[in-house]
Amino acid sequence: IPPERIRNFSIIAHVDHGKSTLADRILEFTGAVKINSGQSQVLDKLQVEKERGITVKAQSASVLYDYKGETYLLNLIDTPGHVDFSNEVHRSLSACQGVILLVDANDGVQAQTVANFYLAFGKDLVIIPVLNKIDLKNADPGRVCMQLKSLFDIEENEVLKISAKLGTGIEDVFHAIIERLPFPKVDKSKKLRALLFDSWYDRYRGVLCLVYLTDGTIKIGDEITSCYSKKSYEVKTLSMLTPHEQSVTQLMAGQVGLISCNMRSHKEALIGDTLHTTGDNVEALDKFEPSKPMVFAGIYPLDQSQHVNLRSAIEKLCLNDSAVTVAPDTSPALGQGWRLGFLGLLHLEVFWQRLHQEHGTESILTAPSVTYKIKLKPTKQNIKDGTDIVYVNNPAHFPSHIAIEESFEPIVTGTIITPDEYLGAIMSLCMDRRGTQTNAINIDNNRVMLQYELPLCEIVVDFHDSLKTISSGYASFDYEHAGFKSSALLCILLNGVAVDELSSIVHITRAQTIGKRMCLRLKDIIPRQLVQIAIQAEVNGKIVGRETLKAYRKDVTAKLYGGDVTRRMKLLAQQAEGKKKMRSVANIALPRETFIEVLKK
Ligand code: GDP
Ligand code: MG
Repeated sequence: IPPERIRNFSIIAHVDHGKSTLADRILEFTGAVKINSGQSQVLDKLQVEKERGITVKAQSASVLYDYKGETYLLNLIDTPGHVDFSNEVHRSLSACQGVILLVDANDGVQAQTVANFYLAFGKDLVIIPVLNKIDLKNADPGRVCMQLKSLFDIEENEVLKISAKLGTGIEDVFHAIIERLPFPKVDKSKKLRALLFDSWYDRYRGVLCLVYLTDGTIKIGDEITSCYSKKSYEVKTLSMLTPHEQSVTQLMAGQVGLISCNMRSHKEALIGDTLHTTGDNVEALDKFEPSKPMVFAGIYPLDQSQHVNLRSAIEKLCLNDSAVTVAPDTSPALGQGWRLGFLGLLHLEVFWQRLHQEHGTESILTAPSVTYKIKLKPTKQNIKDGTDIVYVNNPAHFPSHIAIEESFEPIVTGTIITPDEYLGAIMSLCMDRRGTQTNAINIDNNRVMLQYELPLCEIVVDFHDSLKTISSGYASFDYEHAGFKSSALLCILLNGVAVDELSSIVHITRAQTIGKRMCLRLKDIIPRQLVQIAIQAEVNGKIVGRETLKAYRKDVTAKLYGGDVTRRMKLLAQQAEGKKKMRSVANIALPRETFIEVLKK
């Protein structure tokens, strides 16, 4: 098939607007999968995706479609719609000439729709606006068209109206793809250039790379080299996804396909990298930018005997998710574990859920933290070698407060779309989370789009849930990173010794309140001991709160009036057992549960 009859496109939409359903219909219409095969959402392969109804990994499919007597090759790239996975959306779009912007005809434009629109718009892609779910009783295509007009200047006559569920209007979608999207400007006679835009691990063939060829051809047995790492590989197998893998002997410019080439480690498959024929001198297609983890958490086995199991589970999961970073970590309270970096909170939750579901491990997570920027007090040395600015994602690794000149926290620009009856509640939530409003516009008669500047650490913990709760599920949220702003370090001291597990970074205006609250909570949770314990909160070196836990010997048999001797023995044995699980922190024996309790929130 010549490039003129190839179309590469992606479906982008807010979560639940029907991307996966439309992808299923496209596969059925082209005969790639049987109609009513009972397989819904063929492209969502992971259990967690089925359960949560979201797409986590982008998946692709190549299908053939006959139009006006010609056969076209359509490469569909399904993308995850969630904010946390926007890097996947990004890289998928690099292989496309256009997108289907899918909008629920009932829910209308949502925060993610806005983010996705600008992503595609910024990449100069042709946008085909499509309203989905027109079969719904409450569908209001007129109102949604008005929103598209006021936000994106899209005219009503450009908008397709379909029901992915019932299959209504799907043919119009195919026609629009063929007629409105340009064909890829590729050249198979040029030197090979292939954009690597996804990869996963296969037990038998090792790393599989999903690539989009802009120039040249690639055959089994070819020697290829990575532009970024300069490492070379021999092409072992080639296949197209239809969506099931189908082996081919070569791939040509304009096509999307899968390469296996004895890449041993997932780390070698760099998303955004360009592959070329070994020995050729070509220019890389895209500037290579690795995705940056923004949310970090410690993960520890519930029981140290499970350490090995948990490690192998984490390693396996990381093979299929190159965005997660892993570093070993130890904590006096929780033992040996790891510190993991994620793109966002949902990414973290999905990873954790997969650890449990797919690998049956039991583990606990420390409170998520974000990456902070710290300016150290100038010394001759750090000025000389430029180490006066450091980035820290673990409160335990914070430099001593005496050395810190100023600390900064990451902030984001958040977009919220909501019916106006929830406006008041949402504005007070944002204020509570230290947000500053930067923009507010009406997008139709009763819906508003708000923009806020918010600290990232305030939204990584349950912001999205709170927003959904106060708006009965109607408000939607999306964010973009927007640099750093000044903040403070809160430390918890037990009898004068700092406990790293309980330290956190908070905004200077809230440090005192949070510190006091933490002391009270700990006083409740920590079991009394034989010695008195002073619980203190320290902010930037100043004590802002203190509670005292009086000494006390807990006698578990006190209530038993002496009577039953065997029962008394049993309880004393249990108490002894309990003591073994204690850990000594700051010379105070604390049960592990204390930390778990505090970190659970
Ligand atoms: P995604 O998150 O964008 O991939 O959305 P899904 O394809 O998973 O669809 C979300 C929900 O909307 C599912 O329950 C679908 O059955 C439903 N849905 C998708 N398209 C339609 C449609 O055209 N009409 C109706 N009534 N429901 C639909
Ligand atoms: Mg989906």
